[in-house]
Amino acid sequence: MSFYKFNRRFKRLIRRLNNFIRAFVAKNMIEDRTCLNCQKPIVGRVGKKYCDAYCKSNHFYEKNKTKDQSFFKSIDLQLKKNRRILKEYNKAGKATVREEVLLAKGFNPKFFTHFWRNSEGKAYIFCYEYGFMKIMENDKIKYSLVQWQNYMR
Ligand SMILES: [Zn+2]
Repeated sequence: MSFYKFNRRFKRLIRRLNNFIRAFVAKNMIEDRTCLNCQKPIVGRVGKKYCDAYCKSNHFYEKNKTKDQSFFKSIDLQLKKNRRILKEYNKAGKATVREEVLLAKGFNPKFFTHFWRNSEGKAYIFCYEYGFMKIMENDKIKYSLVQWQNYMR
């Protein structure tokens, strides 16, 4: 065998080996895909993300559930924050605080648990056991703070 012939065969062999490796890697990359729902390996066409229709719908269901939970959580956190702030400024059971002071602390009057109307028909809004009512005093917006009492039922 001449050197040139050997060289040609050798190059062809290398080319085949390269093709084989490339095909092997590609095949295994495809087989490495896992279902977004159950994490099992996916068999089938390229671009497939789920085993079947069940896995697909379940994945979307779980995703939405997480979204709902984070919405619930953010409201829950704001309510607790409001309660903490109202408690902080109402240690005596009754107090009056300027609105801007509470807002600066992160108080958000849009989030509350319930309300109670006094004999004058004015509503105190509550975050759990701490209530507030917007009032005007000396041309300033303030909050009149109260604590929940048994007679407020
Ligand atoms: Zn699956």
